[in-house]
Amino acid sequence: MRDKESILAELIKSYKYKHKKSAEVFSSVSRSLVKGGSHNLRLFSPYPFYDIQSGGSKVTDIDGHTYVDFWQGHFANILGHNPKIVLDALKEYLSCGQGLITGFPGEFQHKLAQLILDKISAEKIRFTTSGTLATMYAIMLSKAFTQREVVVKVGGGWHGAQPYVLKGITQYEDGLNQIESAGLSTDIDSTIVLTKFNDEEHLEKTFYEHGDMVACLIIEPFIGAGGFLFGYTEYLNKVRELTSRHDALLIFDEVISGFRFHAGALQSLYGIDPDLTVFGKTIGGGMPVSAVAGRADVLDLISPDANPINRVKFEGGTFSAHPASMLAGLTFLEYLIQNEKDIYSKIGRLGKRVRSGIEEIFSHYDISVKCTGGGGPHGIQSSLIGVNFLHKELDELRFPEQIWNPKTSDVELREKIFKLAMLEEGFNTFHGYGAISTAHTEEEIQASLDAVERIAKKWVS
Ligand code: PLP
Repeated sequence: MRDKESILAELIKSYKYKHKKSAEVFSSVSRSLVKGGSHNLRLFSPYPFYDIQSGGSKVTDIDGHTYVDFWQGHFANILGHNPKIVLDALKEYLSCGQGLITGFPGEFQHKLAQLILDKISAEKIRFTTSGTLATMYAIMLSKAFTQREVVVKVGGGWHGAQPYVLKGITQYEDGLNQIESAGLSTDIDSTIVLTKFNDEEHLEKTFYEHGDMVACLIIEPFIGAGGFLFGYTEYLNKVRELTSRHDALLIFDEVISGFRFHAGALQSLYGIDPDLTVFGKTIGGGMPVSAVAGRADVLDLISPDANPINRVKFEGGTFSAHPASMLAGLTFLEYLIQNEKDIYSKIGRLGKRVRSGIEEIFSHYDISVKCTGGGGPHGIQSSLIGVNFLHKELDELRFPEQIWNPKTSDVELREKIFKLAMLEEGFNTFHGYGAISTAHTEEEIQASLDAVERIAKKWVS
């Protein structure tokens, strides 16, 4: 393979040449907005493109370039950008003089709550506005319920930027085990205990050492930032068994996996009932909605009538259960449920095609690549795809440590160089590829594979 620095330099040069208007916006807005925006993942190097118009599978930037987008609103947009069914519902609602915040409990939230509760074994639910807040409240509830301090999370788990989980995410230093933010309380390091995703032995050891102090274990059954990996069924069963045995609560973070693989939560496919589930992304239909659902005896600690000793102040949120957001979420989820078979078989089939297509192409050029995102329970098809450039052949990618250890996987090639190379070809990707929506066509998927082929060829010649 040609040397990476020269490939990157060429790509940056070409990107800058093609994105002159975005460069102007970037330099102007960077005076007031840190790094030119409000979410670091959107602000990729050398600078992001701006003023996006979007619809379906595509986005168009201020310089007039149109990209097929596999980022799709942080993977929330299963039906593509701005789906008509949601826009129509919102237009009608707004045209009746309704839809902005009222400060009163509206009817849509009850319907959305019922729809979600029908899909899992949870008894109660409360809405808020971001996955970050929802995981924070779920952990506060666990601490209050158990009257314990320790939060167990897996290395590679991202649950939003809230104080109880900012350890062991993507920063690899002899493992995923670092505190990754300043500004936390000084004792936080000792109250977040890390265990290894998909490693039963490590899990046993963690509970052997900390079991009696554990308030909760929070885990994504399909880990996102940790590399698009499904939890192994035996591993997740062990997670359930050990948390129950030690009277700790199990929180499934289904912010990515909820309604992504079928019209419900991933937990149902494993047959595992966590104590609490966190939803986000998809359940808002493109609007800011998240939720904590779970056991009534835990959720009831939110009530003003709860015993003050373990009452949890999960009660703010001016925009919680915002009427337009609830309507968008309800419309969206109803559509996913009604069209479940068509939607998930299409996006899952395309996901599989991309994974095997990309591996085949790179192997033809002697570049060792493994795609993640497949291999879920009961042979479900998955529409999420990660692309990992490996330093040596591996039979299987199983642990987030393999995804983030620069000695195993070339993180720079995946996150930076391949990203720019795909942009150059007209595809906006994330973690190597990203998320397929129903708006993506067979032709676009084939065109993306043709682009990968051209990139691989360039890299070796
Ligand atoms: N949990 C998971 C699994 C996520 O992927 C994310 C966001 O990407 C969050 C929580 C945080 O959600 P939000 O960005 O809505 O705060």
